[in-house]
Amino acid sequence: MLAHLLHLRGIESVILESRTRQYIEERVRAGVLEQGTVDLLVDSGVGARLQREGLVHHGIELRFNRSGHRINMYELTSGKAITIYAQHEVVKDLVAARLAAGGKLIFEAADVSVHGFDGGKPFVRFRSGGEFQELQCDYIAGCDGFHGICRPSIPAGALTAFDRVYPFGWLGILAQAPPSSKELIYAYHDRGFALLSMRTPEISRLYLQVAHHEDIENWPDDRIWAELAKRFETDDGWRLTEGPVLQKSITGMRSYVVEPMQFGKLFLAGDAAHIVPPTGAKGLNLAASDVRVLAQAFAEFYSSGSTRLLEDYSRICLRRVWKAQRFSWWMTYVLHRFDTENSFDQRRQIAELDYLTGSRAAMTSLAENYVGLPME
Ligand SMILES: Cc1cc2nc3c(=O)[nH]c(=O)nc-3n(C[C@H](O)[C@H](O)[C@H](O)COP(=O)(O)OP(=O)(O)OC[C@H]3O[C@@H](n4cnc5c(N)ncnc54)[C@H](O)[C@@H]3O)c2cc1C
Repeated sequence: MLAHLLHLRGIESVILESRTRQYIEERVRAGVLEQGTVDLLVDSGVGARLQREGLVHHGIELRFNRSGHRINMYELTSGKAITIYAQHEVVKDLVAARLAAGGKLIFEAADVSVHGFDGGKPFVRFRSGGEFQELQCDYIAGCDGFHGICRPSIPAGALTAFDRVYPFGWLGILAQAPPSSKELIYAYHDRGFALLSMRTPEISRLYLQVAHHEDIENWPDDRIWAELAKRFETDDGWRLTEGPVLQKSITGMRSYVVEPMQFGKLFLAGDAAHIVPPTGAKGLNLAASDVRVLAQAFAEFYSSGSTRLLEDYSRICLRRVWKAQRFSWWMTYVLHRFDTENSFDQRRQIAELDYLTGSRAAMTSLAENYVGLPME
């Protein structure tokens, strides 16, 4: 996304990706795009397929005590929505746009290391096709995810990390089954949280809260469907559509931020700088809003020589990042079961959901965060 936005402003870049093109175009991850992310993709000319194939949702359902409650986000936010469009489809569209524009993308870049970003002459060293190469550049953008090499290359002590690990994970499945609901369902249940989502009108994406270090081998498909059915069950006979499980995995839940998101001429963006628990569907969206700011800052530098926006990059992004952290943490606390809970906490949690689905003020707060706070 960053390379595409820079290209539109006439700024050259090179993308180094450690995986193959096929791998990143098939990797199943996020799927909920905020209104601002959709606008960014459409306005920058890579949103045609998204507009054709994306599923626009105006609401979500919160389900607890065996009944559902719809939050009409569209009405509460004066016409904003979310769009369901898989992250790997966004990746395909961006890779295609970069290649069509003659952009330089190097897949399977190995042994990538970053140097010289503390002084005047940054460079990146990597191996491609068995050959070591060195890339001289003005700046390095560390968009290499949570397990990438950019953040750990910054000298110890220069960054402060803020961290929270949650005592559970999400077991996620992709199933060849038409979604049982037109909109997402977030379910709070005595047995734990469950989420019903989708990727297309034929493919469901479903999640279950499971123990922190749960082994996927303990979850044969029958057990997953039985557990989902229990957690989504209602008094009005709602039924879950089942189908062959195409993929399943367990992901840990964590909140993490480093400050600042920059050191010298190395700028961190997206998961390289922060991760959120997936409950608020913010990870991909935060990555998009970071690079929107970074592209503007580079554009200002290359057009006027001013580093004012580049120096402000971290501050601008972190204000939005922390609000998304707060929202993701809150959604997680409201909807999950915690080992440390007692009966008081359970009653309090139900009261919170009851208040949330009965108060227009509370629903508005949820809706405006879910569709995405404004990008600065
Ligand atoms: C299972 C799962 C489900 C998720 N669900 C959601 C969701 O529903 N909603 C949501 O908003 N977010 C979700 N997320 C989070 C979301 O996918 C991330 O927040 C998002 O991908 C961050 O984008 P990024 O570009 O910062 O990092 P990434 O997408 O991780 O991209 C980083 C890239 O850098 C490459 N790379 C890493 N190291 C190197 C290296 N040394 N050299 C070269 N390349 C390197 C990686 O191969 C990768 O392609 C989910 C994540 C997972 C894992």
